[in-house]
Amino acid sequence: MKVARFHAPGDIRIEDAPEPVAGPGELKIRVRNCSTCGTDAKIFKFGHHHIVPPRVMGHEIAGEVVGTGARVQVIAAIPCGTCAECRRGRRGRQTVCPNQESMGYHYDGGFAEYMIVPAKVLAVDGVNAIPDGVGFAEASVAEPLACVLNGQSLARVGPGDDVVVMGAGPIGCLHVRLARARGAARVFLVDVNAGRLAMAAELVRPDAVIDSDAVEQVLKLTGGRGADVVITAAASGAAQEQAVRMAARQGRISFFGGLPKDDPVIALDSNLVHYRELTIVGANGSSPAHNAQALQLVAEGAVPVSDLITHRLPLPQVLDGIDLVSRGTAIKVTIEP
Ligand SMILES: [Zn+2]
Ligand SMILES: [Zn+2]
Repeated sequence: MKVARFHAPGDIRIEDAPEPVAGPGELKIRVRNCSTCGTDAKIFKFGHHHIVPPRVMGHEIAGEVVGTGARVQVIAAIPCGTCAECRRGRRGRQTVCPNQESMGYHYDGGFAEYMIVPAKVLAVDGVNAIPDGVGFAEASVAEPLACVLNGQSLARVGPGDDVVVMGAGPIGCLHVRLARARGAARVFLVDVNAGRLAMAAELVRPDAVIDSDAVEQVLKLTGGRGADVVITAAASGAAQEQAVRMAARQGRISFFGGLPKDDPVIALDSNLVHYRELTIVGANGSSPAHNAQALQLVAEGAVPVSDLITHRLPLPQVLDGIDLVSRGTAIKVTIEP
C-alpha cells in the first residue's frame, strides 16, 4: 500500500509499505479521507518533538473498518483515561491529560491506504460511527471541529454574544459557523491576509470583515463596547495582544491557536483584565466526547462543513496539499488515499 511518511523537516516521502496487521484489541481501517491542517504544514517545516521518524502522518481520519465495513471517524488526541486529570469531575479533563498521545505523532496516522487504530483509542471511546448522510470527507473534519467546540465551550460562547474570530483559515471558518450555531448575535472575521479573508468570508458570511486596525474596527462596530468573545485562531502574539484590547467588560478571550515555541511571550495590560473582569482561556485539542458531538453537529446541519472542503487530492499529492495549506490558498484540503 502507499503511505506518506515523515522522515525529517522538509522530507515527507510517498512510499510503498506492507499492509499493517491488527494486533489484539486493535482495529484495521481502510482510510477514505484524511484531511490536512496547519499542524501538518508546521510538522513538514519544523518536525515535532513528539514525532520520532519515520512516521506516517495524518490525524483527521475517517474510513471503513476492515471486515465489518462500518463507517467510522477516529480521534486524533488520545487521553490516557486513567490519570488524575482524566478522572477529575463528572466528565474528566481529558484535553489536558499530561499523558496525551496523538495519531500521526506517536502512532502511524491516516495518510495511508490502511491504518491500525491502537487499543488505547478504543479504550477511551475514540472511534465514532459516522451518522447516515455524513460523507467520509465531512467526517474527517469532525476532529478540527471538536477542537473548536472545546475552545468555544471553555470561552462560553452563547446566545446574544458579539464574537470576533481572528484568523480566516479553516479553523477560523469553523469558529464562525459554530458561534452562529451557539446563538451568537454577530460574528466578525479578522485576517491580515485580505485574499484569504475574502475567500473565507464568501463561504461563512461573517457580519463584517476586518483586515487592518482590528481593535479600532471592533470598537467601532460595537459602539465602543468591545466584543463579548474574542478567539485567536492564528499563531500570532500580536493578535493575542489585540484580542485583550478589543474585549468587552466581562469579555472572554480564547487563545485558541498556540504561539511558536521560540516566541511565546506577549505584552499584556493586566489592568484591563482586572478592571474589566476579563477571562482568558486556552484550548488544547479535544476529547473523544467532543469528537462525537462534532459529528452530531455536522449530521444535524448545525455546522455545515462540506463547502469548506475546497480541495480533494489523492495520497501521492500530499505535499501539494500541505503546500496549499501553508500558502493559505485553500480552506480545507482532504487527502483520499
Ligand atoms: Zn489538524
Ligand atoms: Zn490522562
